[in-house]
Amino acid sequence: MTYQKVKTDYKTAILAKSSTTAKITRWAGLKPWHWGLYLAVGITVLVTIGQTIRNDSPQIKQSKQPSELDILPLNSLAIANADPPLLRHSAAEWHTHKVQSGDNLTFFFKRIGLSAHYLPHLLASGPHAKRLQNLMPGQMIQIHLDATGELIALRQHLNHTQVLHIERQSPNRFTSQLIELPAETRINFGMATIEGSLAAAAKKAQLSAKVMAELADIFAYDIDFALDLRPRDRFKVLYEEIFVDGSKVGTGPILAAEFRTQGKVYQAIRFTDTQGNSNYYTPQGKSLKKAFIRTPVNYTRISSHFNLTRKHPVLHKIRAHKGVDYAAPHGTPVKAAGDGKVIFTGTKGGYGNTIILQHGTQYSTLYAHLARFSPQSCQGCNIKQGEIIGYVGKSGLATGNHLHFEFRVNGEHRDPLTVTLPNAQGILPNLRSQYFVHASAMLNLLEHRENVMLAAQ
Ligand SMILES: [Zn+2]
Repeated sequence: MTYQKVKTDYKTAILAKSSTTAKITRWAGLKPWHWGLYLAVGITVLVTIGQTIRNDSPQIKQSKQPSELDILPLNSLAIANADPPLLRHSAAEWHTHKVQSGDNLTFFFKRIGLSAHYLPHLLASGPHAKRLQNLMPGQMIQIHLDATGELIALRQHLNHTQVLHIERQSPNRFTSQLIELPAETRINFGMATIEGSLAAAAKKAQLSAKVMAELADIFAYDIDFALDLRPRDRFKVLYEEIFVDGSKVGTGPILAAEFRTQGKVYQAIRFTDTQGNSNYYTPQGKSLKKAFIRTPVNYTRISSHFNLTRKHPVLHKIRAHKGVDYAAPHGTPVKAAGDGKVIFTGTKGGYGNTIILQHGTQYSTLYAHLARFSPQSCQGCNIKQGEIIGYVGKSGLATGNHLHFEFRVNGEHRDPLTVTLPNAQGILPNLRSQYFVHASAMLNLLEHRENVMLAAQ
């Protein structure tokens, strides 16, 4: 029987008087919808810093996949708040409504039958109350009315860990507070051998689509998940899960993963640098990212390869094709292949709407026949790898919708499909020793969890 120590270093703060907040510093890298809406039901949970979590269960605990904005159990929040005003509301008194797409506050109030005269008072209830104006589809709003139908309190569930609570003090005066709920993270493990599809393997490993998408993203520079996978390829992954009151409400990031395909082993370990940027690295500390994405568009097929003696399909003359044509539906987003600067945005003869990016001193990329440009692709602007710069079209001399993509090294055209791409920045020298300690702990845990699971099979 084995136990894993899992560090849950969120600050322990109870949602009690003067609305002390529980800041979940650990999760700086998480997007809000990753967060579990964690209920402070048990003080014991809150004061536990080095939580010991049993990991010897051979099966991944199967739990309900929550929607992005799962609502917290009503009674739990009431119990969680030791503040007397909050305790005045019992679970039964709340009516829950879901924000629908196209709702704004006025529409929403009308739809649920609440008078618009509350709006200015609610919005004036405190500094956080303006959040109420940003209704998001799927968000839960709870209202508590008195016996005469007057609004006593309203709660907006902003995400898994934040609730805006607005409370009536006198007929036309409301006060509001932002309640931050603590959460607990646990490390889970999944592994599978691919027999049919990757999706089938994911299901067998009980891994969510979100975790699988992250896994594919991590190895996207090394593995083409559409083309490279073979039966008996294997993967294993360690990832965080977020729990509220013992129930899983979401997943956090992948901490470490391994993919074995076609005789090669790829390993990735997540590491956060001193600036708070998290990236994935090989056990040797190299970045898993390349400085460039090889294909800057989700294409349906390659309609023309790099070819210096091609007959042009429109001009019917021998004209070198100095790039790759990716056929894709009109309007498909085109991404910047690497970090760089926009040095040209405009029309360029037969290329039609064209963008040229300069990447450092050696590299440049060109994107032609675009339907239109994105606001990010302004001339002289800096751009990040993967940012959308424009959309596929057939402007200029083109027979159909496609992206014409060129890659130049020191001014010379190279075949984008075969050019050796430089790696992105690896672990910086001053962080290497720290990284290696972390990486070996993660790899050991990955192996250990695999052994535990295998032993149980
Ligand atoms: Zn072309």
